[in-house]
Amino acid sequence: MSADRRSRNNVFAGLALDRHAEQRDDAEWLSGQIDDPRAQFLVLAADGRALVRTDCDALRLLDAGERKAWFAHATASFLGADEHGPRFVLRVEEARAERLAAELDAAWLDLRSAGLRLHPFQSGLFAYARALSHWQSRTRHCPVCGAALAIVAGGHRARCTNTYCEAEQFPRTDAAIIVIVSHEDRCLLGRHAKWAEARYSTLAGFVEPGETLEDAVRREVMEEAGVRVVDCDYHSSQPWPFPASLMVGFTARADDPTIRCGPELADARWFGVEDLRRALAGRSIILPPPVSVSYRLIEHWLRETAGLDLAALVNDERW
Ligand SMILES: [Zn+2]
Repeated sequence: MSADRRSRNNVFAGLALDRHAEQRDDAEWLSGQIDDPRAQFLVLAADGRALVRTDCDALRLLDAGERKAWFAHATASFLGADEHGPRFVLRVEEARAERLAAELDAAWLDLRSAGLRLHPFQSGLFAYARALSHWQSRTRHCPVCGAALAIVAGGHRARCTNTYCEAEQFPRTDAAIIVIVSHEDRCLLGRHAKWAEARYSTLAGFVEPGETLEDAVRREVMEEAGVRVVDCDYHSSQPWPFPASLMVGFTARADDPTIRCGPELADARWFGVEDLRRALAGRSIILPPPVSVSYRLIEHWLRETAGLDLAALVNDERW
């Protein structure tokens, strides 16, 4: 399977939407999109939850008429378009959020739950909208001169309003690596010091300035578990807007199984297939949910190592 296909299997990934990045600066084109009678508007609350329907697991998108009725003076950010028309995101202020939901027979849903419940296109759209909206809400002043910023380009750029400065800011994406390390027929999983007793996951960390992704994999595995990685390969990636990450998944091989846990981890262990099967059956460990790329990496390792399906082993009714 190609990395492209593996990425598409990740939740929030593979959004089939034309972003029209080259047209977002064209104000006339943009107003044509907003006035398109097929336009649909995703609504986010101040806390990042999205408006969803109460009768099924789907976003409660506003149509053009509802947008005019509820958000006549609000600026919508352009997300993109497909054969069903353009999509935008709007943010509702806290004071009106509950009334909006009540009058549209809708509810508010957080992104993690949406990743498990909504159609992949809709959860991907939500993730994209949330990332953009969060960046806008935290990008108010120019980091060069301190003047106010104006959001332009359909919501995708912020420009300093000081005419002597005019520095531009772009939505930020913080790259983080996440890796399943194997040694012979076992894989390395760790438990963060702040996590619940039984929760284990693959190792992860942010990429630092001046590092390649591979450097970050080697450094994080060494810092967290004291394990030396000898080679690593890209697996897949996933937008992870909590609030602004891009998870870059890797597989890697250790040359020595000796573990020396750093301060971040309370425990790190090598799990063979049988260890994992027994631990999951006895519920002595909890793995990350399928919404995460960590789950996909463990799933990949289990399939490659033993031809087994992780979902069949997990069998957890909460998922
Ligand atoms: Zn400035």
